[in-house]
Amino acid sequence: MPLEGKVALVTGAGAGLGRSIAQCYAQAGAHVVVSDINDDTGAETVQLILNAGGTATYHHTDVSSPEESRGLVQFALDTYGRLDIACNNAGIAPPPTPMAEISTDLWRRTLSIDLDGVFYGIKAQVPAMLRNGGGTIINISSILGQVAFPGLAPYVAAKHAVVGLTKQIAVDYAAQNIRAIAVGPAFIKTGLEMALDEKTRAALDMAHPIERMGKPREVGEVVAMISADQWSFVNGAYLPIDGGYLSR
Ligand code: NAD
Repeated sequence: MPLEGKVALVTGAGAGLGRSIAQCYAQAGAHVVVSDINDDTGAETVQLILNAGGTATYHHTDVSSPEESRGLVQFALDTYGRLDIACNNAGIAPPPTPMAEISTDLWRRTLSIDLDGVFYGIKAQVPAMLRNGGGTIINISSILGQVAFPGLAPYVAAKHAVVGLTKQIAVDYAAQNIRAIAVGPAFIKTGLEMALDEKTRAALDMAHPIERMGKPREVGEVVAMISADQWSFVNGAYLPIDGGYLSR
């Protein structure tokens, strides 16, 4: 049990990658704080973990709110007494739109969740981790944190910035035993990916050298593994989980 006794929070854990990451954390022995804006699906994730013999509790959190991001960390401290691991996963994908036609509203809304949300999370999580001598922050970026994709300017900009924020955590806090890794999934079959049109989705399978999209579990398992203390010297890294997508 590589995460035995650790306390881990996951944002956007009511579906997709976040749910899988929360399940894999619990399976690895962590006490998991599941958070989302959708209370029903968040509660479902908790139930799935409890049914599998794990420990988890739910707390409503909109990551685009600095107050709610602080409230989530406080909830983890009140419930389990500490915070060891935080996975900043919540994100949205905007409808594909040529860059010059993107409204400022769409730009702001995407950045408020996909980038500001990660910053608010880090800002709240770091002081709690410092209280218990360090911790691990996993930021869910994307392959689109390394390359662009037609019509996804706000998403691509946010995901590249998340890679930068991750390096910044290493530079600012490695000496205090906080480490961070940015994870770069390729296209994974989740609700977010399903928002793409059918033609794009079919083409996406073949965009991966493995000739298929990924499964949430293929991300969750890796995230749980790299959150463990055995990975203590890996800090500020970007790790693709992409079936070879970035190798072309
Ligand atoms: P999803 O849509 O399946 O799930 C996202 C979850 O986040 C939902 O439960 C939703 O309610 C929640 N959420 C939305 N806005 C929120 C907010 N403001 N605060 C808190 N929670 C919120 O998405 P997913 O595919 O599982 O994506 C999860 C993360 O993985 C995102 O950051 C996404 O960019 C990234 N990612 C996904 C893929 C993919 O192909 N699915 C690829 C690379 C990266």
